Amino acid sequence: MNPGPVNVHADVRSALTFADVCHREPEVADLMRNVRAATVKIAGGDSRFTSVLLTGSGTAALEGTLSSVVAPDKRVLVLDNGNYGERIATILTAHRIDFVHLEFGWGERIDLGRVRRALEADPDITHVGMVHHETSTGMLNPLRAVGEIVSELNRSLIVDAISSLGAEELDVIDDHVDWCIGTANKCLEGFPGVSFVVARTEALEAVAGYPPRTLYLDVFRHYQAQESDAPLFTPAVQVLYALDAALSRTIEEGVVARGERYGALSAMLRKGLVARGLEIPLAEDDRACSVTNVSLPDGVRYDELHDALKQRGFTIYGVPERVGNLVRLSTMGQLAQADIERFLTMWDDAVATLQKKAAA
Ligand SMILES: *Cc1c(COP(=O)(O)O)cnc(C)c1O
Repeated sequence: MNPGPVNVHADVRSALTFADVCHREPEVADLMRNVRAATVKIAGGDSRFTSVLLTGSGTAALEGTLSSVVAPDKRVLVLDNGNYGERIATILTAHRIDFVHLEFGWGERIDLGRVRRALEADPDITHVGMVHHETSTGMLNPLRAVGEIVSELNRSLIVDAISSLGAEELDVIDDHVDWCIGTANKCLEGFPGVSFVVARTEALEAVAGYPPRTLYLDVFRHYQAQESDAPLFTPAVQVLYALDAALSRTIEEGVVARGERYGALSAMLRKGLVARGLEIPLAEDDRACSVTNVSLPDGVRYDELHDALKQRGFTIYGVPERVGNLVRLSTMGQLAQADIERFLTMWDDAVATLQKKAAA
């Protein structure tokens, strides 16, 4: 019940065992074109959009995009209300790209007035970087509202949609997103190892002349290479076969239906936790469909709860200390109602055992 890598469907697992194949063969060219097209479709793009695949976890596509698309003398406005908002700033720092850092506080809402004023005040800010679902707190940020401001003020929006794409409402056209970063192993239900950016082709082609800040993660050169069916370096071919199967399943299920499936499981989980006297700090309206941060039961430490649940068949996840003394639970991936019921039973068993031990 960690927020990725998630449990995958058996069809996705068996796609990993596709025959060993060279990445310069036409089968892999077809595969990469299919995967790119499916990611554009899931992000709501049309013929004005393309997709660039990178081998690496979600951060690879995020770092590739941030380091490839900003002109040498321009600035990024970073919207930061959690661990992953902070990561955008960390990446820009590593590449010595100038940025204005709007910090709202972890778990606090993005203040749209501050976003607008920051953009109006500084014409050298050409891009805005934000996280859609801030996985560290479970907060779903107001993508459409930010997109409208960014578009009205003629800037370009870069969105870390790594833990939202595939389950939360996201539409690169309606949300005015030029750069939408996703990964294989969260709500798309594939295996880790491949990430991508769905980009407005016109915006991508405009970066052609920028001096590269990176070789391996140069999104424009990957785009050119993938357009001519000649991947720059060796892609994670088997992971791509699994992702292709996972994307087909996502399209078949539908993003809305998937979000409802995760949301129904989260509702069950949240109801069960609240009934046990635990607290979910985030307001209901701010919650993503998949992630729940909840207070720890009295007298129970996270690490011992983790180990006790692991022994009982469930992996739970920690929360950065800055967010509070909490535990993080996710309903992403292949989980069923019966799993949540069993989880709550095992939770009770683990908590009772730990509390008894603490009292002894
Ligand atoms: C998981 C996550 C990342 C990092 O992804 P990796 O695959 O670990 O590189 C970045 N942003 C968000 C919002 C995430 O949830």
